[in-house]
Amino acid sequence: MCAASDNHRPGLAWSVLRTKCPRCRRGDMFTYRNPYDLKRVMKMPETCPVCGQPFEIEVGFYYGTGFVSYALAVAVSVASFIAWKVTLGMSLQDNRLFWWLGVNAILLLVLQPVLMRLSRVIWIYFFVYYDPEWREAPAGVPERTNEELKNDW
Ligand SMILES: [Zn+2]
Repeated sequence: MCAASDNHRPGLAWSVLRTKCPRCRRGDMFTYRNPYDLKRVMKMPETCPVCGQPFEIEVGFYYGTGFVSYALAVAVSVASFIAWKVTLGMSLQDNRLFWWLGVNAILLLVLQPVLMRLSRVIWIYFFVYYDPEWREAPAGVPERTNEELKNDW
């Protein structure tokens, strides 16, 4: 058996930020680490390389990430607005509001690969929970999948 420290439960937020599998919080959800490798940014293994959790648990599963992606974009915009207001100030008498709009649009564009990945990770975390027995118990086999429709989103 492994050392006791290996049985710890990795933190939720930290696991999401590091795009780890929701079930074991150890395996990587994306094949390539760098989100700015744009051709392969969304490439995922079919199952978790550590615990075998399937990553596409039903047909079109990742369509739902649109909601998460939208929420993340709003959160980034609110944060940048507050940061802008505190540091540079905001006024309707000059163009500062429009500068913020432009800078925020560029910021969202640059962050897009990271936000897309985070959206998928957050989305699957809603449906698959951490399993302390992940080492012993096999991962559930999803029933609502269709080989022909895999990766169809
Ligand atoms: Zn896993």
